[in-house]
Amino acid sequence: MQRNPVVVAGGGPVGLVTTLALARQGVDVILLEGEESIPRDLRAGTFHPPTVEMLDALGLGEALLKEGIKVPEWQIRDRRHGVVAQFDLGIISDQTRYPFRLHCEQHKLSHIAHEALQQYPNARVLFSHRCTGFTQDADGVTVNVETPAGAEEIRASYLIGADGVRSTVRKGMDIEFEGFTWPERFLVFATPYDLREQGFTGNAYIADPDEWCAIFIQPHQGPPGIWRIAFPTLPEMDEEQILSDEFVQSRIQGFLSPDQTYDIAYRSVYRVHQRVASTFRVGRVLLAGDSAHVNNPLGGMGLNSGIHDAVNLTEKLVAVLADPQRGDDLDLYVRQRRQTNIEYVQAITIRNKRLLEERDPDIRRKHLDEMRDIAADKDQARGYLLNSSMIASVRRAQQIQ
Ligand SMILES: Cc1cc2nc3c(=O)[nH]c(=O)nc-3n(C[C@H](O)[C@H](O)[C@H](O)COP(=O)(O)OP(=O)(O)OC[C@H]3O[C@@H](n4cnc5c(N)ncnc54)[C@H](O)[C@@H]3O)c2cc1C
Repeated sequence: MQRNPVVVAGGGPVGLVTTLALARQGVDVILLEGEESIPRDLRAGTFHPPTVEMLDALGLGEALLKEGIKVPEWQIRDRRHGVVAQFDLGIISDQTRYPFRLHCEQHKLSHIAHEALQQYPNARVLFSHRCTGFTQDADGVTVNVETPAGAEEIRASYLIGADGVRSTVRKGMDIEFEGFTWPERFLVFATPYDLREQGFTGNAYIADPDEWCAIFIQPHQGPPGIWRIAFPTLPEMDEEQILSDEFVQSRIQGFLSPDQTYDIAYRSVYRVHQRVASTFRVGRVLLAGDSAHVNNPLGGMGLNSGIHDAVNLTEKLVAVLADPQRGDDLDLYVRQRRQTNIEYVQAITIRNKRLLEERDPDIRRKHLDEMRDIAADKDQARGYLLNSSMIASVRRAQQIQ
């Protein structure tokens, strides 16, 4: 019998989906979000097929599909020689109900999940409530919270840290965040210029030793959408230089027309890491999403894997709350999600970055030739798409005991 609520720290998309998944199962749950409303976050914009399936099972599919743009095809390009490989998720339509990447900003999922939570009186979402630390004993967790009315304590049965890359919860667990930070930051900007006119599919990756980039159409301002483009920058550049008109225009002019000035709707800079926490559980405290693992955005896997954590963890936590003898199920969550993050998410995103940025012309040609061959062979293309769509990683997690 659950006496105290589960507390979720962090009302990003992973925290909100975690809270919803628990609320739907009748669990008393409190979500603490440090900001005063849902942050308007322009980071994640790609949802892969298994993630759309999971969100649909939580009742969010229809609203998300209405907001997003379906992108069934995507390209790998060489900066100088154009399209190298084009993939069509339609060839794995026997493996998923959603054979496309769904492009939609992450804050729209947050709003949809928050809206869905309104019908569950057993769920409370507390904005301007920041988790500042916790202590735990055999029976529960005392969560320290900074609120507009001052410091408070909430007694929880379990605490889930979904509080992002700088996670207070992870730091309180006193565990390692193993991995590394890339020396270069990423410039991300958006233009309404329609890249379809130049033969681009809604998602494309362009290989180049200096100016490789990733391109995603987003429904940001409604149809026909806006194009987000991510470029690397030099480690020695300061933020002002990176965000200057001159630099942003030079990047986009580099692969479109040098004679045109492009409208830029927004621009920002991100530091990018490849890190996985040494465990996702210490006693009654668990991690999910960016608090547990972070990766570069090439392949669009960070938030997707966070949603996969949320679904896996909440299934097990519901079972443990009903039958405390099943406490070990939470260790299975850690084994399944941590191992697949390392084997798939970290490995694929690092490989994607290496493919795009390779400096040695012979190695670059070899890698791009391999991609061309994979795309041209239906069996190989299916295998490649099962990995890049994250279907394989979700299946692999289920096999881990
Ligand atoms: C440029 C870029 C592009 C990306 N594109 C993609 C993509 O296409 N697909 C994809 O899957 N992923 C992508 N990602 C990764 C994705 O943005 C993250 O994986 C995702 O935001 C993680 O969600 P989260 O809820 O775990 O963490 P966050 O979104 O960081 O949310 C954490 C929340 O916790 C709150 N918080 C923090 N500390 C506290 C505290 N102590 N107490 C209470 N609240 C707190 C914060 O205010 C925030 O609301 C991209 C990342 C970048 C940088």
